[in-house]
This record gives sequence, C-alpha cells and structure tokens, in this order.
Amino acid sequence: MTTRYRVEYALKTHRRDQFIEWIKGLLAVPFVLYSQPHGVFEYPPSSPELGTSPPGSPNPILIKAREEAHRRYAEILHDVELMIDDHIAHQNDPDNPFPSKLKLLVPSIGPFFTRLPLEAAFKFQDRKRYISSRRFVSPSFNDVRLILNSAQLISVTSTTPGSTLQLATFDGDVTLYDDGQSLEPTSPVIPRLLDLLRKNIKIGIVTAAGYTSADRYYARLHGLLDSIATSVDLTPVQKRSVIIMGGEANYLFQFDPASEHLLSPVPRSEWLTAEMLLWDDRDITQLLDIAEAALADCIETLNLPAVLMRKDRAVGIIPSPPHIRIPRESLEETVLCVQKILELSSAGRSKKVPFCAFNGGNDVFVDIGDKSWGVTVCQRWFRDPETGRPIRGENTLHVGDQFLSAGANDFRARSVGTTAWIASPAETVELLDELGELMGKKMS
Ligand code: IMP
Ligand code: MG
Repeated sequence: MTTRYRVEYALKTHRRDQFIEWIKGLLAVPFVLYSQPHGVFEYPPSSPELGTSPPGSPNPILIKAREEAHRRYAEILHDVELMIDDHIAHQNDPDNPFPSKLKLLVPSIGPFFTRLPLEAAFKFQDRKRYISSRRFVSPSFNDVRLILNSAQLISVTSTTPGSTLQLATFDGDVTLYDDGQSLEPTSPVIPRLLDLLRKNIKIGIVTAAGYTSADRYYARLHGLLDSIATSVDLTPVQKRSVIIMGGEANYLFQFDPASEHLLSPVPRSEWLTAEMLLWDDRDITQLLDIAEAALADCIETLNLPAVLMRKDRAVGIIPSPPHIRIPRESLEETVLCVQKILELSSAGRSKKVPFCAFNGGNDVFVDIGDKSWGVTVCQRWFRDPETGRPIRGENTLHVGDQFLSAGANDFRARSVGTTAWIASPAETVELLDELGELMGKKMS
C-alpha cells in the first residue's frame, strides 16, 4: 500500500478508504475557516484584541488559532464517535431494517466490533503530530488513519468489561519487516512482541507468504523465533502462544522450542474450520488454473517483466529478473483483471472456494482463502481462556499495511476483528509502544 500517491481506477468499487476520506473532508471545513496562514506574516504580532507581544514570545494569534482549530476538530470527531455508536446500535439490532445515518453517508462502511473513542484519539495524535498547529496543510489522510488506529487501541485496552485484547495478529511484509526482507534479531519490533507475550496476549503472524516447510518461515522470522527460544522470563505457555498462519489461511506452524527451526507444522485436520473442510481440491485446482491463465495473459498484454509462480494453494507473478520494478499501475491492472476474470468464471460464481488476489508491492498473487480465514483460525486455535470459545472480534487486533491497494489482503481481516493500518515497520513499533502504554495504564 502507499498513501503517498494513488492510482485512479475506472472501477472504484473496491476502494476501502471512503471512511477516512469522509472524515478528512469534515475536518477540512474548520481548517479552511479557522487556520490563520496570514498569522505567519504578522510578526511581531499585534491585534486589537490580544495586544502586541515582544519578539521571541509565542505569537498569540497563532496560539488562538491553534486552540480554536483543536476545539473544532475535537468536536467533529466527538460527533463522528456518536454516529459510530448509533451505527453499532443499528448493526446489533436485527429487528431494525433501516440503515444507520453513518451507513447512508458512507455506504461502504463495515461492521464495528468496538466503540471508537475518536475525540480522545485525536487529542493524543494532536499532541504528537501538531495537527491543530498547521496553517498550510490540512488534516491529512495519514492523520485520520493514525487517529483511527489510536481510537482502536484505546478501545481494545479500555476498562469496559469484555474489551480486553487477547489476540494480536500481524501481517509480515511491510508490517513486521520491509517488503521482501526478514525479521532480523536487531529489529525493534521483537522486544515489543515479546512484551505482548509477557502480558499473556497471543500472537498470530498472518502472512500471505505461503511456504510448506518450517525452514522457510524460520528464514523470514528467525530474529523473533530465536529471541523467544532464548528468553529466560517467558513461561513455556507464553512461548507457545505464537503461531504462523501462512499463505493467508493455508499453512499453520506453532512455536516449538524442540524443533530444528523452532516451528512445528500443525496438520490441517487440527485447525481447518467446518467451512474450510468443504473446500474441495478439484475446485481449488480449477480456480488456480483460471488465475494462472489470466496472469499469463496479463504478462503478455502488459509486457510485464515477470514470470509465473504456481504453488499448491496459490499462483502469482514475480519480477524477472528478480530485482526489476514492475510499474505500480501494471500490478494494479493485473490484480483487477485477474480478480474480475475469477469472479465471473464458473468456479468463482459458485463461490465454493474463497480467494484473494492482491498487489504485494512488486508481485501479484492469487491465494486460496484470505486473511479473514487466517485470523479466524488464530481465534479458534487459542480460544478465550474464560469461556473456552474462539476469541471474539472485539478481543482481536490485526495489524497490517494492505488496506487500500488492489486486493488489499489485510483489509479482509476487518470482517473478523478490529484492525490497525500501518504504513511501515517503524509505524508498527510506534503502534506497539502506544498499545504497551495503554495496557500499562489499564493494569496500574
Ligand atoms: P504479507 O505482506 O506478509 O501478507 O506477504 C505478502 C508477500 O509474500 C507477497 O507480496 C509475496 O511477495 C510473498 N509471497 C510469497 N509466497 C506467497 C504466496 O504463496 N502467496 C502470496 N504471497 C506470497
Ligand atoms: Mg504486508
């Protein structure tokens, strides 16, 4: 994903960012009305109301403008917060056939697992990002994305009964490590993940990367796995609270200190859900054959510097030679094209086997299943310690980077749990620090 620039599409039905854009639009109004870009030219500042301040002292016009902007932004986010409460009341009331006001205003809005304390989250992010102090740059897409993340973190750590975080799932590429790289021992993400384990939070790494053997996942995640293995303060149960869900929802590995690569494969019979058991191998092969043919067509039509890669549960195109960049537009075109062909095929129309076509940054893959299934498996594998039931959506947080680009494989997790949308491993570190701080406050 990139929020720096976007590709315009003929078909916009897949765009997931309307909610953020809508909030951004609401915040643009007070920005236009209250920001004081001219304040910058008036120095030493003087105003009949505020008087003149000596050089070097804070500009009272700008302080006033900042306070006013802060108040208005906070009020708007408070109102959106109330609208989400109303939306939650609608979604939880099966007898109410009418859409919520929020649904009418933002038709693509999905279900909410928790309240979103947006006003408090804004105040937190404003202290960090000085949003209200800006006079030339209005509240941005990224500002709103980070406010939503903070609101989600506040919510999953709040003291409301039942709202404790039990399971954190993480995407791999771009979330835990840079695209195509590995989780090295020096990564600042590792101590934060260990800290979650210490707090008895379960961890699932739900990655599209689909490998059938433990050595390949060890190669990508060795920094984390070695740190867990050598940790002296984690209990055996905490150590076993890490699983890898690979290929979206196709291969499950559990941390195992006794195994050569610190991971042992878990046979599908032990974790497939009842629905997943119905995915027939012939349907899977048929779907992947169609995807493969469609990808081959795209390589030809768009003259892509890429080759096909077929696996038992996925098919993709990867750059050839390996380090060449495939244009972003070509990747997005390929995803949308393959997705449409699959949806319209008889295998796709029968909806027997779910699939996920996505742009992985410099490759395109079609995987069987998607991260909603992957996170569901994690929820069922660990289970709520009190009820013995699968961990619920409101007690789950999925952290990922793919919420916008074509296919957006992390976005799928939004249907089974709460989510946080990060843009780099450094943002994941910040997010985990924020989470740690909130959990610390809750426990103290
Ligand atoms: P994620 O960000 O952890 O979900 O990983 C996505 C990346 O994994 C893709 O962009 C690919 O580069 C890589 N990958 C390797 N094998 C597969 C596969 O079988 N399906 C999808 N992606 C794969
Ligand atoms: Mg990713």
